[in-house]
Amino acid sequence: MDTPRVTTPCPRTAVLGGGEVPWDSPVAPADDAGLRGDGCFETLLVHGGEPARAVRLAEHLDRFARGAQELEVPFDRAGWEALARSLTDDVPAGAEAALRLSLSRSGLGIATLRPVPAAVLAGRGGVRVVTLPRGTVAVPGARWLLAAVKTSSYAVNSAALREAARRGADDALFVDAGGLALEGPTANLLWRADGEWHTPPVAGRGVLAGTTLAAVGPHRETALRPSRLAGVDGAWLLSSLRGAAPVLAVDGVPVPRDPELTRWLQGIALDRPAPGTSAAPR
Ligand code: PLP
Repeated sequence: MDTPRVTTPCPRTAVLGGGEVPWDSPVAPADDAGLRGDGCFETLLVHGGEPARAVRLAEHLDRFARGAQELEVPFDRAGWEALARSLTDDVPAGAEAALRLSLSRSGLGIATLRPVPAAVLAGRGGVRVVTLPRGTVAVPGARWLLAAVKTSSYAVNSAALREAARRGADDALFVDAGGLALEGPTANLLWRADGEWHTPPVAGRGVLAGTTLAAVGPHRETALRPSRLAGVDGAWLLSSLRGAAPVLAVDGVPVPRDPELTRWLQGIALDRPAPGTSAAPR
């Protein structure tokens, strides 16, 4: 298929197996399964340059492939890799962009490249968080709940962010039926206490295994009531685009801040080590 080349660096769209198309062209058939949230996706940070670099592309493709397997839809890893590279090739050095890869159960694969949203950049400076109950959304062994899949069904996650905003916060922290921390609508929770990194238990609780969290290195899975965050050394919400966003307060209660740890973590999270911060924290 001969498709016109879009020359502006951002935004750009490409279709798996079809190449780049104009940003605003319709790409999904009206009955595509993805329009019902039946699919999975990945969001990656891109650092511009020659060549441009999609951060942890291999890890994202690994999770994407596992999602496709759970959704029982074929996965063309080499095709996605080529699509990601072709779409990011003209991000200029020093610039960042957001790459999204979406695969629907109908087999439609779409990649988009856009500027990193301003709200995401603002969140890198810190987020005030409210807790929101998510009830019990995962049962161990209940494969059909797709707990480990980054599904396209983000309506609940978006609604939680709107609710957080209504309550005057920047982000949400989901808690389970027993009041224990789970994750944010788009991020994993990490905190530092007693000289160790901690995160809430992942398996069987509907918590996504984050690629950013994995990059931080060894961490313990610890059950936590969010009110306890007032007594830790620091807490962060980790995700690919925002990196390590320091949690400033939970339900209005301040959380201790550690700018040095934040700088170190952010270097890892964004794959952009800050000068002089390569050593792991004590
Ligand atoms: N948890 C949820 C629900 C998410 O949507 C995301 C990312 O979008 C994460 C955690 C963090 O994942 P990652 O670090 O791979 O971006």
